Amino acid sequence: MASKGDFHTHSTASDGVLSPAELVDLAAGQGVKYHALTDHDSTEGVAEAQRASAKHPGHILIPGVEMGTDIEGAEIHMLGLYLSQDDAALQEMLARLRDGRVGRGNGIVQKLRGMGIMIEWERVQQIAGDASVGRPHIAQALVEAGYVEKVSDAFDRWIGRNGPAYVERDKMTPAESVRCIVERGGLACIAHPADLPDLDAILAELTTAGMAAMEVFYKDYLPETVERLRLAAERHGLLPIGGSDYHGIFGAREPLPGNIPLPDEAIERMLEFARTLPNRELVR
Ligand SMILES: [Zn+2]
Ligand SMILES: [Zn+2]
Repeated sequence: MASKGDFHTHSTASDGVLSPAELVDLAAGQGVKYHALTDHDSTEGVAEAQRASAKHPGHILIPGVEMGTDIEGAEIHMLGLYLSQDDAALQEMLARLRDGRVGRGNGIVQKLRGMGIMIEWERVQQIAGDASVGRPHIAQALVEAGYVEKVSDAFDRWIGRNGPAYVERDKMTPAESVRCIVERGGLACIAHPADLPDLDAILAELTTAGMAAMEVFYKDYLPETVERLRLAAERHGLLPIGGSDYHGIFGAREPLPGNIPLPDEAIERMLEFARTLPNRELVR
């Protein structure tokens, strides 16, 4: 049974496989009503998704983004919801994040080549197309060249955080991204936080910076993980929300949009809060 909310999905504007319109069609078909498009470091897909959404009565597109940020020894992804793609200051910040991705992607390819794994950076960029380039595109190039069978193998063997070809990117701190999202009038929500070290300290810092929500109901989290995170959200006064993080690249077992145990009550609380945001004209 699908939830009527999904606050975390990806399209071809980053590393998802479906175009923004196809993604909206899929989510609407799954019965998702409140649907955030949150491509990595880009709002390029939002306009197309909004046009597609208008064709589905009962589907509401929430314009968003997922920002990649770093702390010592870990990556933190920050969802920004209810952000306007016409906001120049926001676009400047996202461009800074994307530049970091290009440098890092190229760095990973060079490291792989140094290990005798001869994929081409040009090919990775072609695979990414108009999307902001990410590790899944490198993984696809590795599959295509026959070095691994599937995308997840590439992460396990080489390009995951502890892999031999991993490269860190130019840093932006999570607190900086929270402040950017809040200053631009949106809602900041920490993404897939289950494996972060010292979660309580991180949540305390980011709540002080203005973060309002936390991804508790995430694609494949076990019930005990959801419960642990729900309690952490409660301790820090964060709205417990969630998303499928649908990309369409992780195989047949990947949960579809809305396929998360996100309760209606959590959606209602989030919407109620969103109606108090500076960007509340984007809330429906
Ligand atoms: Zn993420
Ligand atoms: Zn994501």
